[in-house]
Amino acid sequence: MWWLVVPIAFIILLGFAIIRAIIIKADPPQPRLEAPSGKELERAGIVLSEMVQKPTISHVDGHEDDLAPFFEFQDVLTRHFPLLHHHLSKEVIDGSLIYCWQNSNRGRESSTDTATPATKMKFNNHSSGSDEHLVADKIKPTFDRKSKQDTKKPILLIAHQDVVPATAEGWRFPPFSGTLSEGSVWGRGALDCKSMIYAILEGIEQLLSENFTPSCDIWLAFSTNEETSGAGAPTISRIFEERGLYFRLVLDEGGAVLEDALPGMDRPFAMIGVAEKGYLDLKITAQGSGGHSSTPPDNTPLARLARFITAIERKPPFKKVLSRETRAMMRATAPSLPFLLRFLFGNLWLTAPLIKFALPRVSTFGRAMLATTCTFTMAEGSEASNVIPNEASVIANLRPATHQGVDASLAALHPLLKKNELSADFLIAQEPSPVSDITDPRYQDFVAVIKDCFPDCGVSPYLVMGGTDARNYTNVSDMVLRFQPIRMTQEELGAMHGIDERISVQSVAEGAVFIKQLIKKLC
Ligand SMILES: [Zn+2]
Repeated sequence: MWWLVVPIAFIILLGFAIIRAIIIKADPPQPRLEAPSGKELERAGIVLSEMVQKPTISHVDGHEDDLAPFFEFQDVLTRHFPLLHHHLSKEVIDGSLIYCWQNSNRGRESSTDTATPATKMKFNNHSSGSDEHLVADKIKPTFDRKSKQDTKKPILLIAHQDVVPATAEGWRFPPFSGTLSEGSVWGRGALDCKSMIYAILEGIEQLLSENFTPSCDIWLAFSTNEETSGAGAPTISRIFEERGLYFRLVLDEGGAVLEDALPGMDRPFAMIGVAEKGYLDLKITAQGSGGHSSTPPDNTPLARLARFITAIERKPPFKKVLSRETRAMMRATAPSLPFLLRFLFGNLWLTAPLIKFALPRVSTFGRAMLATTCTFTMAEGSEASNVIPNEASVIANLRPATHQGVDASLAALHPLLKKNELSADFLIAQEPSPVSDITDPRYQDFVAVIKDCFPDCGVSPYLVMGGTDARNYTNVSDMVLRFQPIRMTQEELGAMHGIDERISVQSVAEGAVFIKQLIKKLC
């Protein structure tokens, strides 16, 4: 009868897991906070609409970028946020904006220690209006770089001014009209990422109007070419590093407050990006001896590439891991999910192997969450239909996972490359970001502000699949979070970079309230 022990033990464990899945329930959601005032809603609509009307487009070929709309955009900001532009220092570097709101105690410290007081100097900021600003590079850090919790350490809020191109075709309203309709601002950039810039600036403008004075420096940085992975953010982060700045917390876009973040969720979820995957473009090349297509040999370059592509798609050679951040996401969301997902995500001690096996097979999102992905996006062969190419190539776009970086992901491809006599060359390679620690009190503070501002929502960390400017700032902070404090429906999220991009005025105004509360909590 000894052989019965295993099935009986399994049945007991399964029963335990089912009972757990039945009883784990999230606390009932709290009612939404009262809507921002009518005046705040009206202002959000008017200002965001004007921001959207400036076509701040970035191009893959940076030489095509025209900075004129960016300076017009910055004039809109100067006009609508007068207190901020009076009290904060501002620098403009190749169109990128850097602001600093100085710690209110700094004046006192400066008179007693050696810190250089901020000085007023001329600065060529290319923008209209006053060219006299507090020059931020004179602001000497007064914090302990090594101490994670030092509350004197500055915080950094980032976003990007640029948008992806849009033609009017298919749009309900022209993409740069900034039309206000049905309670939303419509147009390219309304969501990504001008709503974030509005929320940051408006939050600070409101604090200044209430005579709030921060107890740490607050820095803002808005780049001009995030959508094309341009030089803006890397330049700014290098400048910060050269100035000896180190931030207690960096906040960028990435996650958001999402409805139906996962299928069947019973409430919206604030998804906080705690890391992002890497980026790798490889050119995979096959050599051959060419020839006329009427007498084809075996193993032509294109045939070998095709075998390689099919093999990768059938059985991706990358390591599947339920990383710490993914486990944390599953645990946080489990109580708000339908029974089957609640059972799987709420019992990882039992179900992790099953999830690793099944998730990549049923969900492309799940596959990307667990492992490096590799997809083929471009191909080149001969120039005539009847000529076998001497050389053929494809471009593979990989997104290396946090547990399997650029070199390790490439190594996983190696046996298949060798088998098919192919070579691989790096075009672009970016390592996955470090993972921000979700047990750190700074993360917990951040979550507390979300719970205050979005009481009807759950909160969860997650791994960002795409790329944001945030990855450039891990040299100046060990707590980089990606979260746009804006409520989005799946429809609104789907329109990002697409047709009919829009965002509700209510969400944008709520975003400003979040920024205000975050600054109050941290500074
Ligand atoms: Zn963006």
